[in-house]
Amino acid sequence: MKKKILITRKIMDSAEERLKSNFDVLLNEKDIPIKNEDFAKIADQYDGMICSGWDKLDKNFFNQLNNKLQIIAGIGIGYDNIDVESAKNKKIIVTNSPNKSNDAVAEVTIFLLIGAARKAYEGIKMVKSDKWKEKKIDWTDFMLGQSISNKTLGIIGMGRIGRVVAKRAKAFGMKVFYYDPLKQDKKFKKTNLKKLIEISDVISIHAHVNEQTKYIINKKNLKLTKKKPIIINTSRGELVKEDDIIWALKNKLISGYGADVVEKEFIDIRKSPIIKNINDYNIIVTPHIGGMTYQGQLRAYNYAVDKFKK
Ligand code: NAD
Repeated sequence: MKKKILITRKIMDSAEERLKSNFDVLLNEKDIPIKNEDFAKIADQYDGMICSGWDKLDKNFFNQLNNKLQIIAGIGIGYDNIDVESAKNKKIIVTNSPNKSNDAVAEVTIFLLIGAARKAYEGIKMVKSDKWKEKKIDWTDFMLGQSISNKTLGIIGMGRIGRVVAKRAKAFGMKVFYYDPLKQDKKFKKTNLKKLIEISDVISIHAHVNEQTKYIINKKNLKLTKKKPIIINTSRGELVKEDDIIWALKNKLISGYGADVVEKEFIDIRKSPIIKNINDYNIIVTPHIGGMTYQGQLRAYNYAVDKFKK
């Protein structure tokens, strides 16, 4: 009898077909997140599962499982939505899909960096609303942004994506510093968090969220800024206390904020202070598209599919 695999959100057809050739597969056809209260009951009927960041696999979920589920292959990087300890206690293997989109996320980081430096969101809004045509332009003041060339970039978290961002930034002549308590990269200068915040024109965050890193950018740290930096976050919303970012923008301690992720993104995006204030400050946000390239997504889906053994 074939093993049964549940796919909680739609994946690319070719990866789904590969899985179907060896397993009995159920795809969540409606492609809307399965309700928390039903989730364990459904998952309990499968030998394996491919899940997404929208699925909350907490202690309660694992406590309700009997012993059928053996493997959970997550699409994405990290395990923020999975209680890995509870999975381990139940002897369930949990995997994720790192390294599939490092270049793609780094590219979106650079895009947001330049976008915030050149006030791209305000500019595009102006063109789309036709106000550009009507505007009497004061050339001494119109859309004045900053060049990023030769500026100082501070990277928080010099891992797989942080390193690619550092290399790309060097091509713009940026001086790169990083803070990472666990990793070394001899090609770039390591420093502590306080110094990094003080010296940076741009700060880009590339760590995972955990107890040490949650709200690593907060009011206390923002008060240390000296160069009105732009802050970029393509990692996870909860690395930044967004209310404090708005406070820092209002008080001109920072000159812009660019993000591909927001606080409360997986609960209700409308509750994010960044989204609420997007029209009032120099903020540019993309809708979590860092890893969203055809090639990167397909690599991640195939990587998950390869985790299942007949
Ligand atoms: P990684 O594990 O390779 O790198 C994370 C780095 O953070 C490591 O070098 C680690 O030593 C460092 N770190 C650990 N604790 C730290 C601390 N207290 N302060 C500073 N640094 C610390 O991870 P990665 O693959 O480079 O992913 C980085 C982030 O990008 C993750 O949050 C991931 O979820 C996110 N991501 C986003 C997208 C997107 O679509 N926007 C796509 C992929 C990954």
